Amino acid sequence: MKLIASMLTAFAIGVAAFVGPAAAADKGTIGISMPTKSSARWIADGDNMVKEFQAAGYETDLQYAEDDIPNQLAQIENMVTKGAKVLVVAAIDGTTLKDVLQKANEAGIKVIAYDRLIRDSGNVDYYTTFDNFQVGVLQATSLVKALGVEEGKGPFNIELFGGSPDDNNAFFFYNGAMSVLQPQIDAGKLVVQSGQTGMDKVGTLRWDGAVAQARMDNLLSAYYTDKRVDAVLSPYDGLSIGILSSLKAVGYGTAEQPFPFVSGQDAELPSVKSILADEQYSTIFKDTRELAKVTAKLVDDVLSGKEPEINDTKTYDNGVKVVPSYLLKPVLVDKSNWESILVGSGYYTKEQIEN
Ligand code: BGC
Repeated sequence: MKLIASMLTAFAIGVAAFVGPAAAADKGTIGISMPTKSSARWIADGDNMVKEFQAAGYETDLQYAEDDIPNQLAQIENMVTKGAKVLVVAAIDGTTLKDVLQKANEAGIKVIAYDRLIRDSGNVDYYTTFDNFQVGVLQATSLVKALGVEEGKGPFNIELFGGSPDDNNAFFFYNGAMSVLQPQIDAGKLVVQSGQTGMDKVGTLRWDGAVAQARMDNLLSAYYTDKRVDAVLSPYDGLSIGILSSLKAVGYGTAEQPFPFVSGQDAELPSVKSILADEQYSTIFKDTRELAKVTAKLVDDVLSGKEPEINDTKTYDNGVKVVPSYLLKPVLVDKSNWESILVGSGYYTKEQIEN
């Protein structure tokens, strides 16, 4: 009997020693709500965050909503019910989460807006993102430089595309770009033949490449049968690919009729390859590994009762409050620097890009 008892004790100690460190590291669950898997960046964001949070001792509940608003709402509601400690949300439509975030707040759950600002709710505690205005500045600057506008060349024809009007970022990208383009349009150096300017005219619902392609088809047949389009402002690689297909279909992409300069964002692999093939002109690299790191650190600080690091307290007014933010720097990528930026940082291998 005694022997069995002491064996049991030894076993119990062994089990305690085995589960001990894991239990000590279990700091609760972080709910991570991402918009869609249709774009590589959000997959990387989700994976990177799971890695960071787990390394810091948290469990994670990662959900993708496939760009369906009720789906995202249901997923977040479920996270609240299951007692997540913190919600990290990249919203599909940043105005639709008010009620569920109220519930989260009542349950003492902190909310971090991830990459995209959540609008119209007082229950958004922090915002981690990139400098979204600067993204637009970089996109437009790359087009203006490629055209040689500042050296007095031109006038050139340009068409403008915006992101999804339910994504707060889309307005920052567009406004950043127009801060560079509008003076050149006013000076007659850049001409928007369609006359379509402003987010209400150039927005692309749900960042859908097929929608951008269809709009480019219409622009080309309505305004460019006897003119050349020299540049296209595109806010996101998925749209740029659609825009380039449309251009290819009417004969652009040859030695006599090269593609216009087309911008992009996210450094998605198909677009980086397209840049190397002299199709897309540039993209914006936003290191999602850094965003995940900054977000996990911020969450850990909040949950440990520490003051988290923020570097912007004035830019992101969500309609109810100015949300304290941490902004990372976006980087322009084109044919001249892709290797040092994308391969040098270990974001991609050279093989991934060249094969
Ligand atoms: C993100 C971009 C992305 C776009 C489409 C925006 O909110 O900031 O990086 O290209 O959504 O997914």
